[in-house]
Amino acid sequence: MVDKGSDTVLKGISGSPGICIGQAYLVDREGVDVVEKYTVLPESIREEVNRFKTAVKKSEDELIEVIEELPEELHHHLTILESHLALFKDKMLYERAINAIREEAINAEWALKKVAARAKAMFQDIADPYLQGRVDDIVQVSDRIMMNLVGADAVNIGNIDKRVVLVAKDLTPADTSRIQLERVKGFVTDRGGKTSHTSIIARTLELPSVMGLGNVSALIKNDDIIIVDGNDGLVIIDPSDETLLEYEEKKQRYETRRANIKRRSKIPATTVDGVTIKLMGNIELAEEIVSVMDYGGEGIGLFRTEFQYLSRSHFPTEEELYEQYREVAELIFPEPVVIRTLDINGDKALAYARENDEENPALGLRAIRFCLQRPDVFMTQLRGILRAAAFGNVRVMFPMISGVEEVLEAKKMLKEAAAQLEAEGIPYSENFEIGIMIEVPSAVVMAERLADEVDFFSIGTNDLTQYTLAIDRGNRKVAHLYNSLHPAVLRLIKQVVEVGKKHDVKVCICGEMASEPANMPVLLGLELDELSMTPQSLPVVKEMIRGLSFSESRKFADRVLDETTVGGVATMMDAFVYPEENENGTASA
Ligand code: PEP
Ligand code: MG
Repeated sequence: MVDKGSDTVLKGISGSPGICIGQAYLVDREGVDVVEKYTVLPESIREEVNRFKTAVKKSEDELIEVIEELPEELHHHLTILESHLALFKDKMLYERAINAIREEAINAEWALKKVAARAKAMFQDIADPYLQGRVDDIVQVSDRIMMNLVGADAVNIGNIDKRVVLVAKDLTPADTSRIQLERVKGFVTDRGGKTSHTSIIARTLELPSVMGLGNVSALIKNDDIIIVDGNDGLVIIDPSDETLLEYEEKKQRYETRRANIKRRSKIPATTVDGVTIKLMGNIELAEEIVSVMDYGGEGIGLFRTEFQYLSRSHFPTEEELYEQYREVAELIFPEPVVIRTLDINGDKALAYARENDEENPALGLRAIRFCLQRPDVFMTQLRGILRAAAFGNVRVMFPMISGVEEVLEAKKMLKEAAAQLEAEGIPYSENFEIGIMIEVPSAVVMAERLADEVDFFSIGTNDLTQYTLAIDRGNRKVAHLYNSLHPAVLRLIKQVVEVGKKHDVKVCICGEMASEPANMPVLLGLELDELSMTPQSLPVVKEMIRGLSFSESRKFADRVLDETTVGGVATMMDAFVYPEENENGTASA
């Protein structure tokens, strides 16, 4: 008999790509969400504070045990687990919870619930998806303490003894790192998203996962058959025979394709007529460096350093910055890492350094403007970079440059930082290339003069598009108008490349448009020297470039630059990339 199944489809966020099919295994903890408030008598407050401290200590010990048993392949993710360890004692949770118990005479559970909610709200106000991921860290750490407070049993994922798909409200990075790959096929969770640490670990382990499903853990029962489609962020509960067959085939096709692309990802991006373009990866966390290397990146073209500042409640120290930059520089060596100095505020607001709310943060005290106003913060970072530069192939890049003065001032501070280190006898190197991001239209206008001051330009098309078209990159209402292939943006890119050629200044694109394979004919034709992208895009972009002709792409880019409308550009690009689908298509290479 054919099983019809209910084919219940849930849409979530892809945490890690891939498809798996199997029996559900629920790993939820009870008792964490339902806590009650009660008053603690003055003479018992001390005891209550101790009860809280004991729960924190127990949580720390449990995590230390996980760290000690961390499997070899996850060692480069140690910092994720260590950052959770640090969060246990973070002021935002630890001190505030203790203060709440003392000052409000409330039970530890309620105090923790309250401060965790406040910390969560603080991060949630910020639009950046990475920060939404940090909310998960706070929730996970406070949940672990809560479990120890209420005496709930921790699920030991390492002890699962059958082949299953995990279903949970949430999985911590520590839980995920304990997954035995021969037992667990994939997982789905109510919480979390693409930039959560859990999903970063899942991607390393190549475990298909869908997150942010809302209430999946309440809908699925133990032993239900489920399909996890990590590519499209779908979960199918109780699939019919027909759906099962369809997904078995999809899974097979996906795995074969992935194996082929991965096998070819180390082959350089050389066009059919012999022109090679350097492709690098963008990273936000040191841990992502493995993906860049795995997917065949030839260096880090953009290390967005702000996330080390955003994921905590105070500025990092020089030592912390230096350690992180040094780790990245050493790991990627001999290839380069472009360390971009702090690009804070705008869409990535620092909760602890935002003195005034700005009406227009994208045009406000952001990036280099913030750094030049806060020499203490900037010097700390520059010293960290200079010290790390002694251990690898480091390039330094200043973001949001709008004119020559800013570059002169930033370079002056870099010199000053080097002089300080020299005087203090601390090892460093200042023998590196200095570049700027071209993100503000005034920088394109001034490119000739800026070229005298730097070794390279990196075009941040995400912001260049925003500022050229006056379209807020994070505003959904105008998202349909935001397009980096707008003729105005393409013309600006062309101008920058021309200045670069004339002044012998390398030109790279590190905005999202470099992650889209279909954009390659235009970008190749515009003669960029380097492209830096989301690591996962590297293999497909490489594959696309290997199929193109440089000379054809140049002619094509010239024609695209003649186009006057976004629609016109899009039609031309479609016709070039998929000529067989377009009757009047222009021949592709
Ligand atoms: C850009 O603006 O294109 C860029 C790469 O920087 P970010 O996305 O970090 O602003
Ligand atoms: Mg930018």
